[in-house]
Amino acid sequence: MSAFSGKLPVIRSTWTALVWVLVLSLTAFAAPAKRPIPGAYLGTVAIDPGHGGHDTGAKGAEGYHEKTVTLILARLISDRLQPDYRVILTRNADYRLDIPDRTAVANQEGADLFISIHAGGSYLKEATGLSVFYFKELLENPEAAEAEPAENEGRNQPQPWDTVQIRHQTASIELAGHFYSFFQNNGIITVNPIEGMPLLVLLGADMPAVLIEIGNLTHPLEGKSLKDTSFLSELADQIKNAIDTYIKKK
Ligand SMILES: [Zn+2]
Repeated sequence: MSAFSGKLPVIRSTWTALVWVLVLSLTAFAAPAKRPIPGAYLGTVAIDPGHGGHDTGAKGAEGYHEKTVTLILARLISDRLQPDYRVILTRNADYRLDIPDRTAVANQEGADLFISIHAGGSYLKEATGLSVFYFKELLENPEAAEAEPAENEGRNQPQPWDTVQIRHQTASIELAGHFYSFFQNNGIITVNPIEGMPLLVLLGADMPAVLIEIGNLTHPLEGKSLKDTSFLSELADQIKNAIDTYIKKK
């Protein structure tokens, strides 16, 4: 036995401890993250549950409000999109939100898509079924439509912040068409042809934007479906899958 033999176990255990620290550190770095790092998201999606607070929207049977249906569905869609997408809910509780605030948060967070959810049937006369709308100006002179700039032509032109959607019109029509085809092919509800409307809630969105009217809460049959959690869950699956295929196609 040498004079150092008594110290060897101590040295060995110190080295062993250091090796373990190193191994554990490397393991920690190599461990799969529970949530993707921000750069790993497939995209950022803004979901806007219509109405809120004293703005109840349409009223269905037994005091069931549009503001409630839209929030339930928005949360279901959000749950399905995460963790592959960064999801922004313009509201996540029952409070009133001004129209410009709905798109402001989406613009601020650089959302790739803006999807406003409604259930009032208020944009079409006697509407039943699902409708997808994109923003379209009310033109006093229809011939002026021919002079409208194409999607990218107006890019370098100054565009007032509150009418910024106009430059995304072509992309929004494409997005609306994508939803329409998706609902037609996989639908659980009648789908109306897409339509352009002067919808203020979309006007300030600086990205492709649509408003989906998921049915008419005041309609006796549709109102019943819109209270059904399994119907809303299935609809959330459809909307999530439509978003997914649109973003992956891009
Ligand atoms: Zn509404």
